[in-house]
Amino acid sequence: MSLRVLVVEDDRDIRNLMQSSLAVEGFEVHTAVSLSEARALLQHTPPDVVVLDLGLPDGDGLELVRHIRQRHTLPILVVSARHQEAQKIQLLDAGADDYLTKPFQVGELLARIRVALRHRGTALAPTVTEHHLDDLQINLALRTVAVGGEAQHLTPTEFKLLARLVRSAGRVVTHRQLLADVWGAEFTEHTHYLRLYMGQLRAKLERDPAEPRHLLTETGVGYRLATD
Ligand code: CA
Repeated sequence: MSLRVLVVEDDRDIRNLMQSSLAVEGFEVHTAVSLSEARALLQHTPPDVVVLDLGLPDGDGLELVRHIRQRHTLPILVVSARHQEAQKIQLLDAGADDYLTKPFQVGELLARIRVALRHRGTALAPTVTEHHLDDLQINLALRTVAVGGEAQHLTPTEFKLLARLVRSAGRVVTHRQLLADVWGAEFTEHTHYLRLYMGQLRAKLERDPAEPRHLLTETGVGYRLATD
């Protein structure tokens, strides 16, 4: 079972970046663009961790930190452009676990989430980080991909797409899921992106891209990374 993260962020680009990065890491990602939407989601589908922006259209994220702390023990990570010490202290006093200043590195965010979860004793579900089949070797942690022992260079988007398939190796991942997790929620109709990037990946990873043995098409549904 994957851990559920609620991302509260009104900036679309940052929200999409966080959503796709967290999804690739194996989290089930829910997003909210306002305090009211976040409160509704917290009640409906309580997450395991919250990532929270401060400047939201209907109020300040600090209100949500207080709201959550009255009801939940889950970790709260604040991500904000504000960087006055007094504000950080106020947030931490209100019950936030950690604070990241924008702009931030996604890797840093993921590391802080892992630490916050570990402090709560919430173990991250063991996520798949390696995939080996025949001549194909993928290591997500090291970000390496090799075919027949020869290292392949993937673009960041190609790697994200491949990583998403590795995490669900052997299972079909639908077009919508892939588009949402790799490009973002508003790209779920852009199936031509998938065709393009899948073609590029096959050209790099398959011996015969026209007869793929690893990156399989499930016609009309999605794609599957073969496991045998
Ligand atoms: Ca904002």
